[in-house]
Amino acid sequence: MDLYEYQGKELFARFGIPVSEGRLATTADEAAAAAEELGGEVVVKAQVLTGGRGKAGGIKLAEGADDARAKAEQILGLDIRGHVVRKLWIERASEIAKEYYLSLTFDRGAKKPLFMFTTQGGIDIEEVAEKHPDALVRLHVDPFEGFQPWQGRRLIYGAGLADPDEQKQILTIVGKLYAAFVGTDAMLTEINPLIVTPEGEVKALDSKFTVDDAALFRHPEIAEMRDLEAVPPEERAAREKDVTYVKLDGEVGILGNGAGLVMSTLDVIALAGGKPANFCDLGGGGDAEGVVDALEVITADPQVRSIFFNVFGGITRCDEVARGILAALERMSISHPIVVRLDGTNAEEGRRILAEASPDNLHVEPTMLDAARRAVELAA
Ligand code: GDP
Ligand code: MN
Repeated sequence: MDLYEYQGKELFARFGIPVSEGRLATTADEAAAAAEELGGEVVVKAQVLTGGRGKAGGIKLAEGADDARAKAEQILGLDIRGHVVRKLWIERASEIAKEYYLSLTFDRGAKKPLFMFTTQGGIDIEEVAEKHPDALVRLHVDPFEGFQPWQGRRLIYGAGLADPDEQKQILTIVGKLYAAFVGTDAMLTEINPLIVTPEGEVKALDSKFTVDDAALFRHPEIAEMRDLEAVPPEERAAREKDVTYVKLDGEVGILGNGAGLVMSTLDVIALAGGKPANFCDLGGGGDAEGVVDALEVITADPQVRSIFFNVFGGITRCDEVARGILAALERMSISHPIVVRLDGTNAEEGRRILAEASPDNLHVEPTMLDAARRAVELAA
């Protein structure tokens, strides 16, 4: 789960990483009131789950309430890389002397958290990594040993940070970032820029924070931060119905039972020259209830043009799945063509049940590849 900047900063503050004071606003008037309350110069920041807001005009300095209202009007409704701005973070403006970069992400290859630090912050970190790889210090932390203070020193000395006062503050922040990362089951935490003010104070001016979805049950207060309005309707439905659902970008909706079968179904669709729009995993279930839930989720995705229902009967019997499909079609009206492939336990019985009922939009195919070809054809 990705957090907005203001939510990430709230977590930073909870773990003792310095941030600026701010207020959330959803209208220009609220932005003005927030600026009034904060006093002096503020920065009006678009809250969207994507980076590069500054370049896209989503971050503007404002002097006083009226100016904040005007800047908020310019930013609200802006489309930043496909994300429409509906929320603003109004923050007390900072003076910037230097911009650094600090992140801690989970490196799956190394199976360890990875710190990255450079004094060349502010801009695209990918550019620093490419053009000045020596300036970007990378350091893995052994999760069993935990973070050791010497690692923080290696990180900042390696980047050539010379000012003792900055060293001291950043060492503290590095330790706290590790505590925040582990304490929230984060997958990614990034501070870009980590600034030094002209007075020599170091603080996080931005935040990027991703928490592991599978660990959210341990952090109900973070799970609550989820912004349901930003989630597409079918993903919201999937969550409510407890359906395993993943959105992709093609046109064939996929429904299967079991993760392995679903993965090979994606491959077969690709082999047939198509692209999956999404997939749902029925798991062990195949009863009408489960099928209705999954079909509702899949058909709520506007990109779906055809549906490929791929079932291999094991403990789940194909005749039961077939009855589930028919019951589902009776309960809800679906105009999409549905291609079904049934194999395994009671497959013949299942196919016979579907053939007898034979709804117009239902196509039964004998093999997975035939079914995939048909589904791709029907999505064209
Ligand atoms: P991003 O573009 O989405 O990464 O958003 P950031 O929060 O990192 O802001 C982008 C840039 O806006 C920063 O690198 C700063 O240069 C500038 N900026 C953000 N907040 C302030 C502020 O309080 N004062 C000043 N002077 N500049 C700011
Ligand atoms: Mn940034």
